[in-house]
Amino acid sequence: MLETLMPNYTRLPVTFTKGEGAWLWDAEGNRYLDALSGIAVCGLGHTHPAITEAICDQAQTLLHTSNLYGIAYQQTLADKLIQISGMETVFFCNSGAEANEAALKIARLYGRHLKIDVPTVIVVEGAFHGRTLATLTATGNPKVRQGFEPLMPGFIRVPYNDLQAIENVALQHSEVVAVLVEPLQGEGGIQIPDASYLTKLRKLCDKHNWLLMLDEIQTGIGRTGKWFAYQHDNILPDVLSLAKGLGNGIPVGACLARGKVASIFQPGTHGSTFGGNPFACRVALTVLETIEKNDLISRVNQLSQRFTEGFSQKLNIAGVKAVRTKGLLIGIELDKPCGELVQQALAKSLLINVTAGNVIRLLPPFILTDEQVDEVIDKISQLVQHFLQAT
Ligand SMILES: *Cc1c(COP(=O)(O)O)cnc(C)c1O
Repeated sequence: MLETLMPNYTRLPVTFTKGEGAWLWDAEGNRYLDALSGIAVCGLGHTHPAITEAICDQAQTLLHTSNLYGIAYQQTLADKLIQISGMETVFFCNSGAEANEAALKIARLYGRHLKIDVPTVIVVEGAFHGRTLATLTATGNPKVRQGFEPLMPGFIRVPYNDLQAIENVALQHSEVVAVLVEPLQGEGGIQIPDASYLTKLRKLCDKHNWLLMLDEIQTGIGRTGKWFAYQHDNILPDVLSLAKGLGNGIPVGACLARGKVASIFQPGTHGSTFGGNPFACRVALTVLETIEKNDLISRVNQLSQRFTEGFSQKLNIAGVKAVRTKGLLIGIELDKPCGELVQQALAKSLLINVTAGNVIRLLPPFILTDEQVDEVIDKISQLVQHFLQAT
């Protein structure tokens, strides 16, 4: 076969051709239970009727004009995001990396306003922020950065969940303007920091006049059992990046800002051809309305509880180092690398992911039934038990 796709992905030997709710089907008609939601994207499951209807209707109405004009649904979506987040302004783009690029450009401009020559952003180990040159520089995993040097200047990396390390940077570097972190790390292995981490980080940023920039691309839009993970701590960031779950499969990202940086982007400083087009905004608005109307954030918490109880009964065994759950971000850490479990789960018609080498990651959709939760728990528990005995 002629290789026409760039070989940057190792793909599993399956192609899905149809989806409904938490189910996916391949071309042969085999059915799979999706406990990954396309990596935290399809929180409402596949082909949710409300989303499908919005897509069809908007496709028949208007897809794209330009940010040179007012855009239907863009203002309404921005208002809704502001209402649920407590932020003040929104810039729309098309992906997570772009949302973080906007955040990093805001940090640079903020530094310029403070007359800082090399505005520097503190980032952390284990972080994932994307694949563009700036966001891969911000990313913790050396494999993501390797080969793409020279990296972007203006970053300092410290360990995650370590406020003292950040204080130490403050003592040595006067050019810091912002801290960029995930409230909990997704790609990094569902790493949940100490309960006081974000609150103390907020105070630290205030003390030094730094921006607190939260990457909620994976954790946002209900995934952790609140609209945004920082709402568990009653703080507000200065800058917030969103994508994944916002469009339920339609590419859309957003960078939200507040306070002294709410209006720092002036005409000509930033933009996007596709960003915030009528189609993406209509669909994203429908995603938010559907979550709200069906009280799906409460449902995330119920489902989370069921997963936590199920796994604590069935995976309380040697070889399982920890089960970490925050809403429907679930990480099961084993005492050895377990990448092969992805394929073993696929053979049992279950879609999961393994990240950071030894952490099974589940990001199921919010519309799971109790029976589907139990099926995921049973299958994973059997796979893990078998895997630990066999290796
Ligand atoms: C997925 C992800 C990104 C990158 O998003 P893309 O849409 O792939 O560019 C950035 N940050 C976090 C936390 C993510 O999970």
